[in-house]
Amino acid sequence: MRAMTVIPGRPDSAELTELPEPEPKDGELLVEPLYLGVCGTDREILDGAHGEPPPGHERLVLGHELLGRVRDTGRLVAGIVRRPDPVPCACCARGEWDMCRNGQYTERGIKALDGYGAELVTIEEDFAISVPDELGTLGVLAEPSSILAKAWEQIDRIATRACSVHESVLVTGAGPIGLLAALMGVQRELEVHVLDRATEGVKPETVNALGAEYHTGDITEVARQCDPDVVVECTGVAELVAGAMQHTAPGAIVCLTGVAASRSLSVDVGALNNELVLENDVVFGSVNANRRHFEQAVSSLREADPDWLGRLITRTVPLDRWTDALEKGDDDIKVVVDFSQR
Ligand code: BGC
Repeated sequence: MRAMTVIPGRPDSAELTELPEPEPKDGELLVEPLYLGVCGTDREILDGAHGEPPPGHERLVLGHELLGRVRDTGRLVAGIVRRPDPVPCACCARGEWDMCRNGQYTERGIKALDGYGAELVTIEEDFAISVPDELGTLGVLAEPSSILAKAWEQIDRIATRACSVHESVLVTGAGPIGLLAALMGVQRELEVHVLDRATEGVKPETVNALGAEYHTGDITEVARQCDPDVVVECTGVAELVAGAMQHTAPGAIVCLTGVAASRSLSVDVGALNNELVLENDVVFGSVNANRRHFEQAVSSLREADPDWLGRLITRTVPLDRWTDALEKGDDDIKVVVDFSQR
């Protein structure tokens, strides 16, 4: 079978590799991938900046955004990305591996475990999430949605700390993560604002179609206009991260979900501190997702308008040209490798 592989740490090592078919062990499902989404993390791994092969291997099979069909039963499934650390830490022991405390977790297609980018893969039953048939290929959005389901779960929990009523949300970035964050804000009946660089094209159209408000330009200006109670930062861009923390309504919750190359920026930490303290603001980071978040993600996708979700998948690429999926086009939102396409 063919697999999308890369040598972590070595840029431009991506290839389609011929590998033996996997044999499912007890409690494992044999799954035929249908759609596999790619994201910034895959791009980082391809650039040699991230990723770790399984112990004793040189190559890593890439891919962590899976929609596949169980070979025996025909059931559609998404695959959970992270596996608990072997110790396990207090969080992993409770199935909250997304909050792993010792960093010894592993991740399919990212850290020490082969991913889902092959013509046949195995998944432990407990790490497969059922996707309803009615979602069809849109089920490929389950993994990225799980990241936002977790982020919003945390926001909702923090929001119960006081009487403050949240009305306005600012999402920075209109890529797949930002748009799914916006969707979940709309599903919570909040007034949603999305800030991105693009001045025209798919991004503003998709935001408007959701019933949210699209903005471009300076975050300070935009935040002044919408006075956000909640900010979901989805870019990792230093200026936006700094802006997201500084210009909020009192009692605001700022969730950081993006990662980017390190970049220094001068910020008045004293003024930032005073704003956070004097306004009871919360800033927190959020990564990965556990089983509960994948289930929340699937519910959220089910409630969404399928036509709107379909707009998020802007390009499909056949397996034999899989590296094309990682080239970023201006109007790309989510690009997927389509295993049925020849
Ligand atoms: C994945 C997460 C993962 C993170 C860091 C992201 O692209 O969606 O599940 O934890 O990368 O490796």
